[in-house]
Amino acid sequence: MAGLLEAWVREGGGPGIAPQPLEVVRGLLNTDDRFHGVDRLADGPAELVAFRDASRTYLTTGDTGALEVLAARHPLTVTFVVEADGASHPRLTSAPGTADGVATAVAELLVIVCEAHVAGTWQRLKACGNPACQWVFYDASRNRSGRWCAMGECGDVIKARAYRQRRRGSRSATV
Ligand SMILES: [Zn+2]
Repeated sequence: MAGLLEAWVREGGGPGIAPQPLEVVRGLLNTDDRFHGVDRLADGPAELVAFRDASRTYLTTGDTGALEVLAARHPLTVTFVVEADGASHPRLTSAPGTADGVATAVAELLVIVCEAHVAGTWQRLKACGNPACQWVFYDASRNRSGRWCAMGECGDVIKARAYRQRRRGSRSATV
């Protein structure tokens, strides 16, 4: 997976870096860079673009539809890994017979999404509340209250706008 994604995905970019392996998904989501108005995956594999767009919809709206359609095309299977000390644990992997690199990458991304839900880290992945930004960031705050990708940039922009609107509102109310 690394080779294929490395060509498109820049991990650790911008504010709000997630723990690995969730950072791979965050990096992929941010290839749709709305802040700078560029789609860095524009020439990328269609199925990778489909995963990115479906998971952004899921992340921002909770709508599972597109992601479920995609997941049905990339079935996962449970295997049991036996450690050297004899302990074993289950692991999700792409179904046997998945030969092509893009399909394997998408299956592995789905595994990351599944495991992040179990670990409780998916719930910390958010899109910035600034409509002109929507940068996906990892909210590491204790009470998961973060709304902006980077306080001091987007947060201040939105707060200043709200302040101006309130002032405008109160001025028109007094006229
Ligand atoms: Zn932002």
